[in-house]
Amino acid sequence: MLVKSASFIISNSQVSKCPKSKLPEYAFIGRSNVGKSSLINALCNCKNLAKTSSRPGKTQLINHFLINENWHLVDLPGFGYARVSKTQKKVFQKFITNYFKERIQLVTAFLLIDIRHEPQPIDLNFMQWLGKNSIPFSIIFTKADKLKAEAIDRNIANYSGKLLETWQTLPPKFVTSSVNRCGVEDVLAYIDFLNQSLKSSL
Ligand code: GDP
Repeated sequence: MLVKSASFIISNSQVSKCPKSKLPEYAFIGRSNVGKSSLINALCNCKNLAKTSSRPGKTQLINHFLINENWHLVDLPGFGYARVSKTQKKVFQKFITNYFKERIQLVTAFLLIDIRHEPQPIDLNFMQWLGKNSIPFSIIFTKADKLKAEAIDRNIANYSGKLLETWQTLPPKFVTSSVNRCGVEDVLAYIDFLNQSLKSSL
């Protein structure tokens, strides 16, 4: 899919204030510093659409972007950042869970995982929660440029093995880098495929 236009629509902390339009929506979420803003910018071919920050945990709102006038990309707050207070964490958790439970426009979530890291309980628990709530998701491994091909394969096999301890089937997965753009087109093609499937099912 060619991204011809991408524009910021609204930021807010309440799902009730998200855009009313019925456009299909794709949410991006992951631990702070996972490379979410960089990947969103790479997907949209924009340098500064999503705000990359040297201070993790800065983007703490639900951010809607309109892509090609026909779907929404949603940048959700990064989670698991230690410097955020417990009370603040609870508030984020609440509005993120509300978003997932209530946002009927959501087609699928993309959970971003740094390809260099061992599976983390916070991500595994979040996937369990998505599964329990029947929310479709894919995994996007980020920062693939930081590893050699063999290490990428090894880490993905390790991650898949961990997931297969509790899941019967694995979610779709993408291996990406915002630096060399590997996998970026694959994520866009998947979104395009889902958008087309939605159209033909109407
Ligand atoms: P966010 O907090 O998840 O939005 O993460 P950012 O996009 O702000 O990225 C966090 C840090 O990781 C920044 O220093 C980025 O330059 C770096 N980074 C993000 N994506 C990549 C990538 O694909 N490859 C490499 N090598 N670094 C990346």
